[in-house]
Amino acid sequence: MSATLPASDGEAATTTEHVIELDDVHAGYAQFQALFGISLSVGPGRALAVVGHNGMGKTTLARVASGLVVPTSGRVVVGGVDLTGRPTHEFALAGVAHATEGRSVFSSLSVQENLSLTFRQRFGRGGVHPALERVYELFPRLGERRTQLAGSLSGGEQRMLTLARVMVLEPKLLIADELSLGLAPIITDEVYKLLLRIKSTGTSMIVIEQHVQHALDVCDDAVVIDRGLAAYSGPAADHERLFAAFQHAGAADADGLPN
Ligand code: ATP
Repeated sequence: MSATLPASDGEAATTTEHVIELDDVHAGYAQFQALFGISLSVGPGRALAVVGHNGMGKTTLARVASGLVVPTSGRVVVGGVDLTGRPTHEFALAGVAHATEGRSVFSSLSVQENLSLTFRQRFGRGGVHPALERVYELFPRLGERRTQLAGSLSGGEQRMLTLARVMVLEPKLLIADELSLGLAPIITDEVYKLLLRIKSTGTSMIVIEQHVQHALDVCDDAVVIDRGLAAYSGPAADHERLFAAFQHAGAADADGLPN
């Protein structure tokens, strides 16, 4: 089964180049297959929620979209260019940023060193200072903690550091994988406000989240992943069909095999 998302709000898909397109993607780890033919696309400025229970393949999908996992078959097309099998830095150069829970910061470097590393790679030495100023203006708390080791920041502050980098890099596509994992509800709300701000700048997003409602609140479209297949794909606002698919997926065994 595959699921291609409809064009945004009835707009013609033919006139808008997708920021990313997954075409009949099968993928997994060695002998283990996690995705069994996923097709989806994200248009400019659109946000796609990827929801599903544990172990259904959401993170694998995110890894395929950022080039970390190479599909065994199918295609990954970024900005109209087929990047299937290309190294991850080509995905980054094409404007794909992958933000994950926890792994996005160097814990033994300070806040400022973390930011400077990213900005130097992207803007060159001369671009670091203006980019830092922009971050500290947007996130005064990070400015206050610029000399603190990133590993000693709270979970919420680490997520803030990750998203601050993203906001300045202005990727074409942000893949946000479980950014609320382990955070207190009030901090999760802050993280989601940030995602909304990033979206308002025109960045497209793939939002992977177990707190389904949070993801749906910021997204236009949604896919429910059930054992490596799309059990629903359509508007994020169609709660009736979406939650029916979600609940049906939850009722089945999470054995990693398709029906
Ligand atoms: P969760 O919500 O629990 O993070 P998920 O929907 O993101 O789950 P994935 O992380 O994509 O699911 O995992 C899909 C399947 O692939 C699972 O059965 C998982 O055990 C398996 N898997 C994930 N990563 C690896 C890996 N590196 N090596 C082998 N199997 C893996």
